Amino acid sequence: MSKGRGTMQSAAIPRKKIPWFPTVDYGTCTGDQECFKFCKNEVFTWDEDKNHPVVANPYNCVVGCQACINVCPVQAISFPTKEELRKTMKRLRTAIE
Ligand code: SF4
Repeated sequence: MSKGRGTMQSAAIPRKKIPWFPTVDYGTCTGDQECFKFCKNEVFTWDEDKNHPVVANPYNCVVGCQACINVCPVQAISFPTKEELRKTMKRLRTAIE
């Protein structure tokens, strides 16, 4: 499965109801800033004191996009699975119909 940019978002579902954004494993992160420099949606800010990214704007993340996984050299970034996302979207769509 491709871990690229994508969208499964529906205009009728408020973005903040969709739990899709990166999680950083700070025990694995080496502080190279690749994800911070890569993401143009400003999902990440940088904590200078702790030398690691902060997922400061999680709902700026494009639903279904996992592109920052590919830039992290140590696999410190994770997302929910696509199957979890599909189930969430199905549940949310059912709720608004
Ligand atoms: S790309 Fe990975 S190792 Fe580099 S700052 Fe981001 S999470 Fe940390």
